[in-house]
Amino acid sequence: MIISNWGNYPKIDASVYSGSFAEEFQITLSKSGKFICRGNGRSYGDASLHTDIIAMTSYSRFIDFDSEKGILNCQSGVLLSEILEVIIPKGFFLPVTPGTKFITLGGAVAANVHGKNHHSEGSFSSHVLGLKLMGGDGSVVHCSPNENSSLFWETFGAMGLTGIILEVSIQLKKIQTSQIKVESLKAKNFIQAMELFEESQTWTYSVAWIDCLSKGKQLGRSILMRGEHAKLDEIPSEKGTLKTTQKRNLNVPFNFPGFTLNKYTIKGFNAVYYGRQRKKESSFFQAYNDFFYPLDFIYNWNRMYGSRGFTQYQCAIPLEYSESGLKEILELLSRKGKGSFLAVLKRFGKKDPLAVNSFPMEGYTLALDFKIDNETVALTKQLDEIVKKYHGRLYLAKDSFCSDYSLVNYTRTSSKYFDEKFSSMQSIRIQKLNK
Ligand SMILES: Cc1cc2nc3c(=O)[nH]c(=O)nc-3n(C[C@H](O)[C@H](O)[C@H](O)COP(=O)(O)OP(=O)(O)OC[C@H]3O[C@@H](n4cnc5c(N)ncnc54)[C@H](O)[C@@H]3O)c2cc1C
Repeated sequence: MIISNWGNYPKIDASVYSGSFAEEFQITLSKSGKFICRGNGRSYGDASLHTDIIAMTSYSRFIDFDSEKGILNCQSGVLLSEILEVIIPKGFFLPVTPGTKFITLGGAVAANVHGKNHHSEGSFSSHVLGLKLMGGDGSVVHCSPNENSSLFWETFGAMGLTGIILEVSIQLKKIQTSQIKVESLKAKNFIQAMELFEESQTWTYSVAWIDCLSKGKQLGRSILMRGEHAKLDEIPSEKGTLKTTQKRNLNVPFNFPGFTLNKYTIKGFNAVYYGRQRKKESSFFQAYNDFFYPLDFIYNWNRMYGSRGFTQYQCAIPLEYSESGLKEILELLSRKGKGSFLAVLKRFGKKDPLAVNSFPMEGYTLALDFKIDNETVALTKQLDEIVKKYHGRLYLAKDSFCSDYSLVNYTRTSSKYFDEKFSSMQSIRIQKLNK
């Protein structure tokens, strides 16, 4: 079947094996060849693509939920959206969540996802109590910070190359309501946005939307949102307490023509988005879905980029070089008129010293979406040069073009835990770069 991830690029013809029982994965692994696991295909590039794919979304049972301690154990194909439906009414929330809830637990571990709270609460790995893994020979092993700990830590960020993640046990966080207390602040340019991020270090969540087409003194003008889980005595009673309901979703029913998103439509969108907030600051309560997952409201929004698809370029730049690196990137995009419809800036806290394959490093991370066209590869190469110059790195969960091995935190050659039975288009591409 023809298959792609969220960016709809690349598309490949693959054999897909799925299973609801561990024994089925053992049978698949006994076949010759190499495999890669696929969660819900919400990585953007080629991380979970290969000619032979093990689909995990049917391996999706809840195993145990201790609603006193907030400890949840699930099979890896369970979606975060399904977990939220169960845990919110019990007064718990995910300790770390990416910008979509339609990912699997296995995908969250394999990419070691981060949220808007990396500076305050770390990556997903900081909240995982244990994993059950299946190696390429079909053997099953438990691992945790105390048991097979090297394998445990190396699995985070290894993008499925240490084996099949079968089960994940996580520590949830306690909440009193499902509302978020939000402050939204306008920044005239990216330097002011960075100052606001630094001021917001004591807030649990922070994120900024950034206008990549603005120029001069307005380079990187942004809207920064910071938030906290609202306490019971803070919210107006009509907001309800632990509700999971969401507004009806919109759908993009087919691929938009390729010309729909261009420099002019993006410029127009940015002007409206930035101008929509009149005051410099505003505060309000927002349902968790609107704060954490605004894009999930539009099903299949990836089709807006047309049939050739799109790529997300996400880099991290260490704190000492963040300002210079961001300036160079934004100047390049503004000069070339290569706006990103959705450009997101976040502040990363300290990198996790144990989860060595993870993407985050202390500093700033910028995520940019680009429609695939004849200039995309050249543009990503130019961006790579800037990221390299400032000692940054790229996020493998988004990548499909990386052209420099030194830009990824990827240790296939140095790690004994990367199992030879597992391989993806991405790992093959990156392996070649290493030679
Ligand atoms: C709108 C949107 C917003 C996003 N925002 C963020 C964000 O804020 N922060 C962030 O960190 N990420 C973000 N992402 C990326 C996404 O969280 C990751 O790519 C995540 O890994 C996707 O999970 P998935 O279940 O869809 O896995 P897939 O995309 O199918 O696979 C991702 C990787 O996990 C591996 N994998 C999946 N399941 C297993 C398993 N059971 N065993 C072994 N390996 C497995 C695959 O081999 C692959 O390498 C976003 C994605 C989208 C579409």
